[in-house]
Amino acid sequence: MIPGVRVHLDHNATTPLRPEALEVLRELSARLRGNPSSVHASGREARARLDEARARTAAALGCVEDEVVFTSGGTESIQLALAGVVRAAGAQRGLVTSVVEHSAVLAAADRLERERRPVTRVRVDPTGRVEPGEIVDAAREDCALVSLQAANNELGTLQPVAALGAALRARGAGRPLLHTDAVQALGRVALGPLLELADLASFSAHKVGGPTGIGVLVRRRGVHLEPLLGTGSQEGGLRPGTEPVAAIAAAALAIELAVRERAAYADRVARLCRLLWQQLHANIPDVALNGPDLDAPRLPNTLNVSVAGVESRTFLARLDLEGLEASAGSACASGSLEPSHVLLALGHDAERARGALRLSLGRTSGEEDVHKAVDILRRTISAAR
Ligand code: PLP
Repeated sequence: MIPGVRVHLDHNATTPLRPEALEVLRELSARLRGNPSSVHASGREARARLDEARARTAAALGCVEDEVVFTSGGTESIQLALAGVVRAAGAQRGLVTSVVEHSAVLAAADRLERERRPVTRVRVDPTGRVEPGEIVDAAREDCALVSLQAANNELGTLQPVAALGAALRARGAGRPLLHTDAVQALGRVALGPLLELADLASFSAHKVGGPTGIGVLVRRRGVHLEPLLGTGSQEGGLRPGTEPVAAIAAAALAIELAVRERAAYADRVARLCRLLWQQLHANIPDVALNGPDLDAPRLPNTLNVSVAGVESRTFLARLDLEGLEASAGSACASGSLEPSHVLLALGHDAERARGALRLSLGRTSGEEDVHKAVDILRRTISAAR
């Protein structure tokens, strides 16, 4: 809880910087003087800290060091994976993805389509889940890459990435590669089974208490990518520009801690999430849960609800005045008046989609936040009706 006043239930948008990460950021920002590409002592010190951050990140994510590419965030990791693989595969090759992906994936898909490449967006069931067989069928010879999110940022739905990876591998040589947008899964669900069968995976440090502006793309050995920005020697030739070493080191620590603390954190926050839904259900008439059931496999921290007769985008401003911070769908789309593409993809009508409210708990949330949030929602909704 933000001391004294506000209840912040918008951790899927971003998370507060962890004190441990802030400490590293502070210390290295003050101390490091060199460019990691310089050969003098200051440069070598920066290089050593960068190498250490890469080793930590690789160990946390279960890959080897040269498979870690540091980027500016989840969005860039995704763009590099999607455009990078598809363009490197040659003309006429394309992408298969789902209709409920984050806008970073959908924007990359649109761009590839404008390059006259085949792009298929597979539908989902009423909980937001894809059927792996549908993706496998859609991924024909002209498909260079399949991209499927590990967890949906609006609903908390988990996608069958491991099953899809196994099905694609069963096709043998010439199979499409698999990328997973694991930005919301990091620190919330076990990554092992997901990453084992994916060729590429995208992550973002600011979703797990790291600084904004640092992402990771895990690219398995042997996967060819065309860089987005010309050539350069940094990040294995995939991302030109001097590396922000202090921020990368802080990000690596946050990722390591998120993975290490995941099981205990997920249990704690899942209990809070369940309490939040029970309290909403008991106190607010006509509240409906969007996405998977509380007992289904899901992100432990995310609840998406619609309240009949309430339009969430105007309602969010009232909640904010009362001290509750939430969002309508994804933070990136929150300025838009369009109903969430994810809610519409579930088959809900525009009214239910416009009434969707995303409440996402985090490391700093406690039971007091849940009770306070329900009280604010109850009062604000009855005043709005
Ligand atoms: N993918 C998902 C599922 C997300 O939730 C987000 C951020 O909201 C992103 C990608 C983009 O990450 P970033 O904000 O680091 O660019």
